[in-house]
Order: sequence, then structure tokens, then C-alpha cells
Amino acid sequence: MLMLLDFRVRQRDFLLEISRAITAQLELSEVLRRVLNASVVMLGGQVGVITLRDSDGSYRVRATIGVESARVQTINERLQQIFTGEALDYDSLHEELGAVAALLDKRLKQPFALPLVFAGEPLGLLIVFRSHVATATPDDMQVLESFADQAAIAVHNAQLYERIDHERRRLAAILQHSADGVMILDAQARILSINHALERMTGWSATDAVGRDQDDVITWKKLERGDLKKALDDGWPFKNAADAPDSLYVEGDLLRRDGLTSSLGIVYSPLLTTEGRLSTIVANVRDITNFRQAQEMQNTFISTISHELKTPVALIKGHAATLRREDVEWDHEVVRDYSAVIEDEADRLAVLIDDLLTTSKLQAQRSLELNLDDVRLDQLVARAVERFSTQTTIHQFKLNFPPDFPVVQGDQQRLRQVLDNLLSNAIKYSPDGGPIEVGGMVDDKQVTIYVRDQGVGLTEGDQDRIFERFYRVDDALSRRTQGTGLGLFLAKAIIEAHGGSMRIDSQPGQGSTFYVTLPLQ
Ligand code: ADP
Repeated sequence: MLMLLDFRVRQRDFLLEISRAITAQLELSEVLRRVLNASVVMLGGQVGVITLRDSDGSYRVRATIGVESARVQTINERLQQIFTGEALDYDSLHEELGAVAALLDKRLKQPFALPLVFAGEPLGLLIVFRSHVATATPDDMQVLESFADQAAIAVHNAQLYERIDHERRRLAAILQHSADGVMILDAQARILSINHALERMTGWSATDAVGRDQDDVITWKKLERGDLKKALDDGWPFKNAADAPDSLYVEGDLLRRDGLTSSLGIVYSPLLTTEGRLSTIVANVRDITNFRQAQEMQNTFISTISHELKTPVALIKGHAATLRREDVEWDHEVVRDYSAVIEDEADRLAVLIDDLLTTSKLQAQRSLELNLDDVRLDQLVARAVERFSTQTTIHQFKLNFPPDFPVVQGDQQRLRQVLDNLLSNAIKYSPDGGPIEVGGMVDDKQVTIYVRDQGVGLTEGDQDRIFERFYRVDDALSRRTQGTGLGLFLAKAIIEAHGGSMRIDSQPGQGSTFYVTLPLQ
């Protein structure tokens, strides 16, 4: 009797110890391993299996002792039979467990199955097989059931933890791969994490940035709107906060770690503790450099176009008003000269309007319609040079074409527009005069026309941008020279519509050569 009591006390102690061990652990696979070990030891078994219910209701083996991995699939299939819906079918349970035991080892005689249930929800089944048969007393059963209850709590907690952990990793992956920059700050604006996009925007790696004050990483070259530190000092997010605290918008030019500059817009959103204290700040960062450039371009566009429209309109109005004066009798020559100015300026307006229409069409359809015909480029160039040489006395034109220059397929009028633009630029941007050479080269597949001046030239940065819509080099010469920044943009579009390409070779102060290459076919 004493011995039995002693055994019972030891069994309880063991159970307690095991329960503590399994409930202290949160990782599901480790919890299952401990539960299964304890069950096999307690029941004096040789083989153990835990099968858990998946979110789709099916049961899958998640931990084993004494089972070859090749057998797991068969056990999975067998055990599907023992559940009808949510409930355990005890008849087929008995039958299937017998079959599984025979499959695993002929010596296994007695299977034990303990349902793992938490708050009435079936979580899974704990199965132990042993090679001897022993009848369990009601006391034994009570101990086992209480163990199963503890195990179910541990499994339930571990599953919850697994789900939360999964959700946490999912959120982290979303943040990490978001195209927007994301930064998490503590209440003192110290960086807790930054994502890949923000690493790219700031030039800071997450390893270097984490732990620093956000002002070390977000260093403003020019702050245009808002200021996080100042807002925090002024009581943000609680100042003026009614129900939900407001987010804070900050915008400016960032000095990146690599010395480059980019424009950023940051929305800081506060997260509060349940007691209403500021716990975390989530910063959503957007690179608005392109947006700013587009805005700038729009402003430039409006000022350039209005200037370019105003000049001919003023000239036309002035000359027409002069001619209309009733107090003067104009002689024939004055009338002819003034009318010529009016006509020239009207032509200039027509070209400008045409360029604007083509540009807006290009933006809408991305390609240009061409009227293809045979074009003799050498002759087209010679005529253009003839026209332009009457407009300047300080430039000397030189033609350089090989004999029998081939005929190409092209849109004569559009190609003339390209040549006119290149020649007019060569004149405009070599204000001290000098030679302007226009030549041609041929190979098997293509012809190349070049226009070479010895003018002001272009920096590498400007060379990259002069084919952009409305782009004009920002210098004194451009400011006093008429132009819209559309000429080269349209020239490139026209040449590309022909299947050709444009390139430039230039150095500041050394002049520029523009090359136009067109396919022969
Ligand atoms: P624009 O109407 O201003 O001349 P373009 O598109 O033809 O417009 O040229 C864009 C800019 O490229 C010009 O404003 C000028 O700054 C620069 N550019 C064009 N051609 C030359 C050249 N031959 N030499 C130096 N700069 C040039």
C-alpha cells in the first residue's frame, strides 16, 4: 500500500515537472517533442506520435518517437479515417491504430490515444504504442487526462505563438520589400528599424542606422515643411489631438550619406500605448525627386512658353500698330519691311505652336507618324546650310559629304526640322562665331550626319539631359538666347521614329558635335 502511494506521489511529481517544462516553452516543435517524450515515458511505451489539426481541418503528424520518416505519410493517411468532421470516431480509431501498430512493429500491442482539447476545440491527438498490455486504473486515467489537458494548453499557446510569429514575419517582409521607405522610431526618435527602400534612399545600411537618432540619418540639406524634433518638443502628437492623434508631414531635400541629394516627403504616424503614451513612430518615406523635377519642369515650361509667345506677339502688335497710324503716310519700303517682320514672327509662332502640339501628341501616343519618301540627305543639308548662312556673318559653314551619298527612306519635312534645329543650335550656342561643319558618313547598314560647332560645349551632366522635354542648360547664354527646350526632344523623337538614333560628343568650351544615324533600309 505504501509502495503504491509512493508510486502515485512520484507520478504526480513527474507530471508536474513535465507540465512546467512544456508550458515554459513557446516553440511548437519543442513543446511537441517534450509532450511526446513525457507521454512515452509515463506510459512505458516504445513509439509515440502527435498529430495536429490543420487550419483546413485535416490532421497531420507533427512529432514522432520511434517512427521511420518513410512511414509518416502512411500514418497520415490512416489517421484521416478516424475523424468524422470535428469528432473522433472511436470505432475506427481503435481499428486504424491497430493497423498502424502492426505496420510499425509487430511487437506493439497496446495503443493509447489521448485527444488534445482546448476550450472544447480539438487540437489533435497524442498516441503512444507499447509492447505490453496493462490495464489502466481510473487513477491512472485521471493522471493521464490531466497531463493531456496541460499538454493541450502548451500546444495551444505554442500554436498561438507560431501564428503571431508568422504574422510578425509576414509584416516584416511586407515592410522590408515595400517600395516606399519605412522607418520605425521609438518615442525619442531613435531608429528601431529601416527597410531596404529607405536604405537605398538614404545611402545608410540598416545595420549602421539602427540605434541612431533619426536626425543622424535623415539629414536635411533644406527642410521645407514640418520638423519632427520641433514637433515632439512642441508636444506632438498630443497637441491639438482630439480623438486620434494627427500624423505629421515633413518635406525637404535630403543630404544622403553618399553626398547625393534627393527630395523626400515623410509622413510620421504615432502609435500610442494603451495608457495613451507615445510608444512608437512609424515613418513612411517617399522619394519625391521626380515629382519635384516634374513640378520644376512645369514652372519652367510656363515661364519659357509665355516668354516665347510674348516676344513675337509684341513684335507683331508693335509693327501692325505702327503701320496703322493715321498721322503718317508710310512709304512702300517701310510697309514691306514691317510686313516681313509680321510674317516672320507669325511663322515663329506657328512653329512654336506646332512644336507644342507635336510634343503633347508624342506624350499621348509615344510615337510620331511619318510620311516616308526617298530623301537625298546631302541635298537637304546643302539647302539648310544655304538658308542659315544668310542669318549669320560670324560663322563659316563647311560641307563634308562623300560623293554618291545614298538615298534614305524618310519624312522629308521632319528631317528638315531636325537639321534646322541642329544648325540653329550650332549658331545660337557658338556666340563668338567660328566654323560649323556638316558632314555625312556611310557604312553597310546606316548613314550618319553630323553637325560640328566650336561653341560653348556641354558638360556631361547636361549632355545626359538636353534631349529631355523643355530642358535648357541653366546659364547666362541660354537665358539671353531664344528657345523652348523642345528642339532636341523633338529631333530625337523624329530620328527614333525613323529607327535611327542621336548622340553627342562635346566638352565645355570646346564645342559640340551632334550625330544623327539613320538605317539604310
Ligand atoms: P532650345 O530651344 O533651348 O535651343 P534645344 O532642345 O534645341 O532647345 O536644346 C536644348 C538645350 O541644349 C539648349 O537650351 C542648350 O542649352 C543646349 N544645346 C543645344 N545645342 C547645343 C550646342 N550645339 N552647343 C551647346 N549647347 C547646346
